[in-house]
Amino acid sequence: MRLSRYFLPILKETPKEAEIVSHRLMLRAGMIRQQSAGIYSWLPLGLRVLRKIERIVEEEQARAGAIQMLMPTLQSADLWRESGRYDAYGKEMLRIQDRHERDMLYGPTNEEMITDIFRSYVRSYKDLPLNLYHIQWKFRDEVRPRFGVMRGREFLMKDAYSFDIDQEKAVESYNRMFVAYLRTYKRMGLTAIPMRAETGPIGGDLSHEFIVLAETGESAVFCHADYLTKDVPGEDLDFNSDLTPIVKDWTSHYAATEDVVDMAEFEGTVPEEKRISARGIEVGQTFYFGTKYSEPMGAKVATSEGTEVPVHMGSYGVGVSRLLGAIIEANHDDEGIIWPASVAPFHVGLINLKPGDELSDGACEALYAKLEAAGIEVLYDDTDTRAGAKFATMDLIGLPFQVVAGPRGLKDGVLEVKDRRTGEKELLSPEATFDKLKAALTV
Ligand code: ATP
Ligand code: MG
Repeated sequence: MRLSRYFLPILKETPKEAEIVSHRLMLRAGMIRQQSAGIYSWLPLGLRVLRKIERIVEEEQARAGAIQMLMPTLQSADLWRESGRYDAYGKEMLRIQDRHERDMLYGPTNEEMITDIFRSYVRSYKDLPLNLYHIQWKFRDEVRPRFGVMRGREFLMKDAYSFDIDQEKAVESYNRMFVAYLRTYKRMGLTAIPMRAETGPIGGDLSHEFIVLAETGESAVFCHADYLTKDVPGEDLDFNSDLTPIVKDWTSHYAATEDVVDMAEFEGTVPEEKRISARGIEVGQTFYFGTKYSEPMGAKVATSEGTEVPVHMGSYGVGVSRLLGAIIEANHDDEGIIWPASVAPFHVGLINLKPGDELSDGACEALYAKLEAAGIEVLYDDTDTRAGAKFATMDLIGLPFQVVAGPRGLKDGVLEVKDRRTGEKELLSPEATFDKLKAALTV
């Protein structure tokens, strides 16, 4: 992408309304624009990151056997009356009437709708296990939308729903999602700790919140320090194998949110020097809730003996749009964002110090074409701006590598390559630059 033809509305001033660093940086880097409280437009740079996060979520959901679909944002109130949640959900639910005065709502979550879909088609244990998910915008009329995309009113969520014949099988489905979550966050460069959690308005028996530690996090959490260095299962893991040992290992140390913490147990089971009491960002939650929805809504399946039983369900959310904030909270410095390569909007920022200069233009065009052909995404700054401003913009938007081309270096046949995270700079020939970037950025 040529910056001269892109839309990257960088802000020079620090926006006053932004209380935390990720919100400030997303506004300054031209990633999002607030349209009303807690409702944002995704500008081109922000949308690229959102899509990268979605892709990782999709790949890991597929690996764990979940099947993607898409449900609408608007739902009929009748479904929610069946489950009893239409009244229970309260003011967070945005209620709407259509022209026929039918009660509708903008979905805050989709348990009712997926249960309705399930009961319309599935009749037998032979069709189970089943896990269906979508990535769709949700609306919750939060009392205090704040921190940018971290607590929006409209936000993007991945929500998966599992269906099983009994509790034992449902726990197997739960475990698959649990392990998929460990892998999902890890691939985004985050350490997310599964913590015992309250089940809240979704209700149920077994639940974990996946928490990224950050000073600006909204939840107070208590956990064992060994969680920060634990190995996450690799890509070769067979999701059809028994995942119980992995889940046991990942729940063997103490980790709980403030809602459910038992201080006596925390202090009794965790050695003093390993106790972490900190703040964290909830980037996902897993629930097993049994027949809470299938029973009132009549979602039943025939067992192998021919009797009909309500199906056992779980639901599994990932805060896709919130993750941008969480990743930035964990990856930034005074100059700006430092994207992990897996979610970076572009991999390389190529800076032409002197557009119009034959040597500079030639070197940039050649490298740009070669990198793009190799599948490396380049933001090529070909604009007529002073060098200082170009460097500041690249640091702010945080692409993993910067390549600087100017007449002085090119006289000696070299480009300057900077690693955004370490700040290390190297002078390399165009060929060596390409080889280095290719090795660092392709798997
Ligand atoms: P919170 O406690 O932060 O209000 P929640 O527990 O109500 O969240 P869930 O129903 O578990 O949220 O939704 C699944 C995921 O969606 C959460 O783990 C979180 O990452 C994300 N999420 C929930 N509410 C918001 C919001 N208002 N803005 C952005 N992301 C959100
Ligand atoms: Mg939650």
